[in-house]
Amino acid sequence: MLSYRHAFHAGNHADVLKHFVTIQLLQYLNQKDTAYSYIDTHSGAGVYALDGNFASKNAEFDTGIGPLWDRTDLPAPLKEYVDLVKAMNPSGKMRYYPGSPYCADQVAREQDRLRLFELHPADAKILADNFRKVEAHAAAQGVRPTTRGKRVIITKGDGFQGLKALLPPPSRRALVLCDPPYEDKMDYRKVKDMLAEALGRFPTGTYAVWYPLLHRMESRQFADKLKQLPAEWLNVTLTTHTPMPDGFGLHSSGMFILNPPYTLEPMLKQVMPYLVQALGKDEGARFTLETGTQVTGRSRLSGA
Ligand code: SAM
Repeated sequence: MLSYRHAFHAGNHADVLKHFVTIQLLQYLNQKDTAYSYIDTHSGAGVYALDGNFASKNAEFDTGIGPLWDRTDLPAPLKEYVDLVKAMNPSGKMRYYPGSPYCADQVAREQDRLRLFELHPADAKILADNFRKVEAHAAAQGVRPTTRGKRVIITKGDGFQGLKALLPPPSRRALVLCDPPYEDKMDYRKVKDMLAEALGRFPTGTYAVWYPLLHRMESRQFADKLKQLPAEWLNVTLTTHTPMPDGFGLHSSGMFILNPPYTLEPMLKQVMPYLVQALGKDEGARFTLETGTQVTGRSRLSGA
């Protein structure tokens, strides 16, 4: 099913959670010089125009990046994310929003590799066009030589299928982001199967999965299913408001991370209360933060 276009949702509260966590995971990898691979199984278009027809339709960015834009009291990890978005908007007006591949491109270094999958023909083309512009801009500024074709490889194809051929990566260091649309309920199953196979090939990789918290059973049971995978895990969710009685709209989403860096949990304990306060719409706003490991069956829960 290829009806989903991320442009409708760009910059919403779910993107804030996903992108700020992804940036922190990459910053952790940056602490060592050795190159790593960033693999995005569901890349989207890479960059979104917030004043374009898609994004302005429901103005979902008003639930996410919008309320953070002018805050002067951002905790450092959130500030890094907001600064990255501001850097692509030099006029100071919030016009463009970065997708996950663009965030990764900005944080990853010259020696790192980006492997990007996108199945939708239109978004795959926009993604490739956007990266041509990004690389040309970087080369013009002397930031890095034009490394397209080596540093960044974009594949128009199925990321669920494509991941296994990239594992283990040459440097044995990688972050995999898996962010499917979930409009097809089979996506839940495909994510788990993909991760099970990926862990078999590359058990020490870090795998980050974004997911929506919806009424449908597959969504409610999803995190518990992922907890059965053979790795340490961290599950963080952000709820911005009480669900509507008709179930309309996304009120809550999560990031489930396998093999999270030890720095992630303390960082989230610091930042999530701020995000709840900044993006929360009513008394239903809250976060949960849980860690554990399937190997010992241990788990810890915190939240507000
Ligand atoms: N990760 C992006 C970001 O944060 O900016 C957003 C991705 S969006 C939620 C999901 C994308 O997955 C859509 O662009 C959709 O076309 C694409 N897609 C759907 N099924 C796919 C598949 N099997 N393999 C690769 N991409 C797929």
